[in-house]
Amino acid sequence: MEYKIPLFDLNFDQEEEKAVLETLRSKWISTGPKVGEFEDKFARMLGVNHAVALANCTVSLHLAMILCGVGDGDEVICPSLTFVASVNAIRYVNAVPVFADIVGYENLNIDHVDIERKITPKTKAIVVMHYGGFACDMDRIMTIAQKYNLKVIEDACHGPFAEYKGRKLGTIGAVGCFSFFSNKNISTGEGGMLVTNTDEYFDKAKLLRSHGMTSLSYERAKGHASNYDVVDLGYNYRMDDIRASIGLAQLNKIEADLKKREEIRKRYINALGDLRHILIPFKEHQWFSSNYIFPVVLKNSNYEKRDSVRNKMAEAGIQTSVHYPAAHRFSMHRHCHLDLPKTEYVTDNLITMPMYSKLDNDKINFMTKALDDCLNE
Ligand SMILES: *Cc1c(COP(=O)(O)O)cnc(C)c1O
Repeated sequence: MEYKIPLFDLNFDQEEEKAVLETLRSKWISTGPKVGEFEDKFARMLGVNHAVALANCTVSLHLAMILCGVGDGDEVICPSLTFVASVNAIRYVNAVPVFADIVGYENLNIDHVDIERKITPKTKAIVVMHYGGFACDMDRIMTIAQKYNLKVIEDACHGPFAEYKGRKLGTIGAVGCFSFFSNKNISTGEGGMLVTNTDEYFDKAKLLRSHGMTSLSYERAKGHASNYDVVDLGYNYRMDDIRASIGLAQLNKIEADLKKREEIRKRYINALGDLRHILIPFKEHQWFSSNYIFPVVLKNSNYEKRDSVRNKMAEAGIQTSVHYPAAHRFSMHRHCHLDLPKTEYVTDNLITMPMYSKLDNDKINFMTKALDDCLNE
C-alpha cells in the first residue's frame, strides 16, 4: 500500500545528484578526499576536535566500546527504549547490557536515578541515547560517571546538532556516535560518524576503521605512502567518497531542515493540544532539538488499543511507527529479569507520527484530525 503521508521523506534534490556525479567522474569512489572533507565539516559544525566517518552507526558503537576499554564480562548500563544496535554493540565485545528505565511517560530518556541504582563493581560504561534529539540529563549522568569512574558513550543518532546547555549532543561524553541511514536527519543511504575530543581515541578509531593498517589506499595512490604495517586487529568499517559527497550536500541543508522540523513540531503540538487521550513527550524540553521523530503516548491504554489506532491511521493513508519495541524483550537480550515498568508502558502505547521538513500545514491538520477520530471511536 502506498501511504498518502509516509513516516519520512528524503530532503534530496539536484544538490545530492550533482555531488554524486562529481565524485563518480573524479574516479576516486572509495575512502578519499570527500570523506576527509565530510569529517572536517562535521567536526567544525559540531564543535568537536575529531570526527571519523564510518560505514554506519552500528560499527561506530562497536568502536566506541573498544575505545572505552569495554570487554569480557564488563557491565554496560543502557536504555531499552532504543534501536537494538545500541545494545548489540555491547554484546560484540562480550560485555553485558544492564538495562535502565526511562524517566517517565513524558521524558523517554534514560533515568539517572535508575542508572546509579544499577551500578556494580563490574560496571564499565554508560550508553545514553538522546531520544528524538531531546538531550538526556547530561549534567547528572556525567556526575555519576565521574563518581564511579565510568565512560559515557552517546548514541546521538537522533540528535545531529541538537544541544544540551549550549553544547552539541555527541560531544559531552567520551565518544559520540551518529547515523546517516536513509531515514535519519542526515541521509547518505548507509553511513555513520564517530566523534571525540580525545586524541588517542581518534588515532585508534582511524586505525581500527581500516584493518589496523598504518596507511590508506588513497594515501598510497597519491604517493604519500608506499607501504604499510598492520599494528592492531582492525576491521573494514570505512565510508566511501560517494556517500561522503551526499553527506556534504546534506550538511549544507541541515540548519534549514532543523528549523522546519521545529516549526512542524510546534504546529503538531498546537493542533494536538486539546486531545485528552494523549501525552506529548518532551513538551517542556528546554534545549534545541533535532526533532528526528514526533512520538505521542496514549493515556490509559494498552498495546491492543494502540495497534488498533495505528491500523486505523494506516487505513486513513498515514504511516506511523513505534520507536521502539523495547530491546529487553527481544529473544536475543531477554536474558535476565528486569524491572522496567515505564519503558514497558511506553513501548506498548507509543505511536510515532510522520516527521520530515516537507510536511505542510494541511497534512498536519489532516493527521491530527485523523488521530482524534481514531482515539474517539
Ligand atoms: C539508526 C540508529 C542506530 C543504527 O544506525 P545504523 O547507521 O543504521 O547502523 C543506532 N542507534 C539509534 C538510536 C538509531 O536510531
